[in-house]
Amino acid sequence: MMDLEFDKNHIWHPYSSLINPPPVYPITRAEGVRIYLEDGRGLIDGMSSWWSTLHGYNVPELNAAMQAQMEKMSHVMFGGLTHEPAIELCKKLVALTPEPLQKVFLADSGSVSVEVAIKMALQYWHSQGKPEKNKLLALRNGYHGDTFGAMATCDPVTGMHHLFASQLTQHLFAPAPEPKFGEPCDEQHTTELARLIEQNHAHLAAVILEPIVQGAGGMRFYSPEYLKRVRALCDQYDLLLIADEIATGFGRSGKMFACEHAGISPDILTLGKALTGGTMTLAATLCTDKVADGICNGEAGVFMHGPTFMGNPMACAVANASIDLLLQQNWHQQVSAIETQLKKELAPLNDAAGVADVRVLGAIGVVEMKQPVDNRTLQESLIKQGVWLRPFGKLVYTMPPYVIDTGDLSQLTGAMTTTLARIK
Ligand SMILES: *Cc1c(COP(=O)(O)O)cnc(C)c1O
Repeated sequence: MMDLEFDKNHIWHPYSSLINPPPVYPITRAEGVRIYLEDGRGLIDGMSSWWSTLHGYNVPELNAAMQAQMEKMSHVMFGGLTHEPAIELCKKLVALTPEPLQKVFLADSGSVSVEVAIKMALQYWHSQGKPEKNKLLALRNGYHGDTFGAMATCDPVTGMHHLFASQLTQHLFAPAPEPKFGEPCDEQHTTELARLIEQNHAHLAAVILEPIVQGAGGMRFYSPEYLKRVRALCDQYDLLLIADEIATGFGRSGKMFACEHAGISPDILTLGKALTGGTMTLAATLCTDKVADGICNGEAGVFMHGPTFMGNPMACAVANASIDLLLQQNWHQQVSAIETQLKKELAPLNDAAGVADVRVLGAIGVVEMKQPVDNRTLQESLIKQGVWLRPFGKLVYTMPPYVIDTGDLSQLTGAMTTTLARIK
C-alpha cells in the first residue's frame, strides 16, 4: 500500500494545506477513460486530468510515439540545435491555428507559455519605441496560471492579489463578459472595457483573455460577439490581443480553437494542457510575423527567453502523435455527441433545489450550485458511483475524454445528477 501518511505530512498537492490536508486518493494505473485506485476500483475521469487526456489513458499510439522517441533521444538542448519532432510539431501548429500565427515558441508548461506571451508583447512595444506600453488589460474571472507574470493577469479576488501586492505588476481589469454564449452582445456590454482602453491605451501593451470559455476562474461561456468587439477595439487602439487557449485548444469548445467561434485571430496564442494528449508537460506560444519581426528588430535583437527543457523531443513526439490521432478521429463529431448527451442528461438538474445554473458547451458540462459544495462528501459520493470529479466552490463540472462512450458518459452524468439533486 502507498504511504499516504508520508504524502499527508510532506507533499504539497495543487492548492493544498499541509495542516489540514484534504484526502488524496492513491492511483496505480489508468486505462481508457478510467483511473484505478489502489484497491482496484476504476473511476471514470470526468476531468480528463485537467483538460488534457483527450484520447483517454494508456493509448497505444501515444505510448508508441514516446517509446520510439526515447530510443532515439529523450532530450537534447534546443539552444543551437534542432530536431525532427519539434519541426514537425511547429509545422502542425502553424497549419492548424489561424493563418496569421506563423511563429512558435515551445515552452514547458501553460503558465510559462503565458509568461512568454507577456514578454513577447512587452518586447514588441519596446522595439516600437513605446516602452511605456507595458500594462495589460485582463478580464475579471480570468485565469492564466500560477507564476508571477501570469498570476498578475488572473482575477484579483480569486487570485488573492493582495497577498502578493508588493510583487505583482498592477494591470487593468475589465468586468467579466456579461452576455452568455449564444446571446447577442451590444455596445453596452463593452462600455467599461472600451472606456478602459480609450483612457489607457498609451500604456497598454495587450489585452489578455481566455476566448469564449473562462475556465478555472468561473467556468463561464461568453458571447463570440464580445470577443469580436475586443478584437475590433484592439485594432482601433493598436493593442495586441493575447488569446489563452491552454484549456480550450484542440476542440474542447466544439471548434478546434475557441477563437474560431468569433472568426477572429489573436496576435499571440498560448496552447498547453491537451497538446500532448495528457502524457507529458508541453506548451506553446504562437505569434504573428509582425510581432516576431518587431521583437527581433528591437534593442535586444533576440527574444529573451529559453527554458532548459525547451522543445523536449519526447514531448514533441507525443504531441505529434496526439494531434494525428485527433485529426484521424472525427473529433468534431465526438465533441458534438458529448455536447448533446451532456445537455440532455444534465438538464433535469435545472429543477433541483440547490442548483443555480446548468450550462454545456462542446465537451464541457457545468453545474453551478447556489452554495459552495462540501468537496469531501461530494467526492466520496461520486467515487462510490465510480466517477472522479474535482469540484471547486459552487462549481461541479466535467470535461471528459473525447473517446468516452455513451454508457460511461451516462454513468458520469448519472452520478452528478443523483448526488447534486440531493443538495438543498
Ligand atoms: C491551466 C491553465 C493555465 C496554466 O497552465 P499550467 O500548465 O497549469 O501552468 C493557463 N491558462 C489557462 C486558461 C489554463 O486553463
